[in-house]
Amino acid sequence: MGRLTPYPIPPEPPVLRVAELLPSPATRYVAATEELPAYEVSPAPLPVEGSVPVPMAEPGRHPVVFEDARIDPDVQKVLRRLVRHGHEAYLVGGCVRDLLLDRRPKDFDVATSARPEQVRELFRNSRIIGRRFRLVHVLFQGGKVIEVATFRKSPKEDDDGAELLIKSDNVFGEAPEDALRRDFTINALFYDLEANQILDWVGGMEDVRRRVVHTIGDPETRFREDPVRILRALKFAGRLDLGITPDVYDAIVFCREALALAARPRLSEEILRLLRRGQARRTIYLAWETGVLDVLLPELSALLYDADDDGNGAAGRLWRLLDYIDRRTAEDGPLDDTVLWTLLLLEPMKEASDGARDRGAAVADFLEPLIERLAISRRYADGMRRIVTLLPKLSSGRAGRFARTDVFRLAVDVAEAEFVARGENPERIRKLASRGGSRSRRAEN
Ligand code: ATP
Ligand code: MG
Repeated sequence: MGRLTPYPIPPEPPVLRVAELLPSPATRYVAATEELPAYEVSPAPLPVEGSVPVPMAEPGRHPVVFEDARIDPDVQKVLRRLVRHGHEAYLVGGCVRDLLLDRRPKDFDVATSARPEQVRELFRNSRIIGRRFRLVHVLFQGGKVIEVATFRKSPKEDDDGAELLIKSDNVFGEAPEDALRRDFTINALFYDLEANQILDWVGGMEDVRRRVVHTIGDPETRFREDPVRILRALKFAGRLDLGITPDVYDAIVFCREALALAARPRLSEEILRLLRRGQARRTIYLAWETGVLDVLLPELSALLYDADDDGNGAAGRLWRLLDYIDRRTAEDGPLDDTVLWTLLLLEPMKEASDGARDRGAAVADFLEPLIERLAISRRYADGMRRIVTLLPKLSSGRAGRFARTDVFRLAVDVAEAEFVARGENPERIRKLASRGGSRSRRAEN
């Protein structure tokens, strides 16, 4: 049985690598073998009926031993107790992917054959949550919550198939069905802790080895079912430095307009997730290059297309603002969400409000269509408006009565980023910050 610490990086080159392509916005993101202009993509083939694959009867079984300390001991307890009582139980989803890619998982999810009531009975400190799809939260010391979900299958198989967009997702199923309903092959690996085995119904191990994001089944079908998966593909490629296979890349470009059909609060949440984990620049670059940004935030993509920008204009500043987000995230953990939104939209907000008699009102007008399109919460929009109004005062070193408001610390971060993006020394802002308290910081979620 192979011991895997860390997971060996395979010798063959990945299909597509993003990291080294991204230092300058002038570099295009090119598929490994051909020059692919982002917008001239031949129409992807129409989805074939039933193109979502039938589960392999037997999963691929890959012996893998993770160092014990890498898997939360409470999760191990949960898995072992479920199995001892005759149920199937596995680690699933993002945690298995992250363990294989030698990253620290954010959290550990468990999938099991046990029904929610059966799980509930096994753990005194647990509760059933969710009305439509019921999950069990097992509670541990220090507020730790482990989510245990019963296997479910894609509801689509029970429909007439007339419409692809998935609206509900709540039918119990078996392990292979639960693997197949997931979005990407790397997210559909199950880990059997007792057997020290990865169970793979979808070819996910091969994609982990190749370090690529690939949908389970036909990419266009999967993106039309749930367009938010487009953003998830960009997020995983950017965050984990994975390639995107050419067919998936083409389908992202081809289906990007479908994002307008997705539930708007999911869009704004997913945009924040693109910014939070330390690879904001890379991920926004991918979103721009695939045309996804044109659909979600045309205000930003317009600015990036400005051919006159020699690096000192708004486009250059935007890339440097994103660099600032990534650097701060690496230093202090994720920034406050209001700060993230403000930095992302700072350049167009400034353009809309510079010279306006009432800066706040100009920013509010600018944000209105965005709030409509993406359901950005009013709380964030209000924060952005107040921060942008404060900026000129901060730049001139005057904090005045604002130094005691909650928005002050957020505005200091934004002002500091703005100085850095302009290539100026943010010392003056740091001095102001020391009067108003330390840098802002967002609690990890
Ligand atoms: P993260 O580290 O960002 O939490 P994750 O892979 O755990 O990444 P989650 O959003 O927590 O992502 O979702 C958990 C799992 O649920 C995913 O790994 C995937 O298998 C499945 N999943 C999530 N969203 C979708 C979706 N839109 N369509 C299909 N499966 C999904
Ligand atoms: Mg997760």
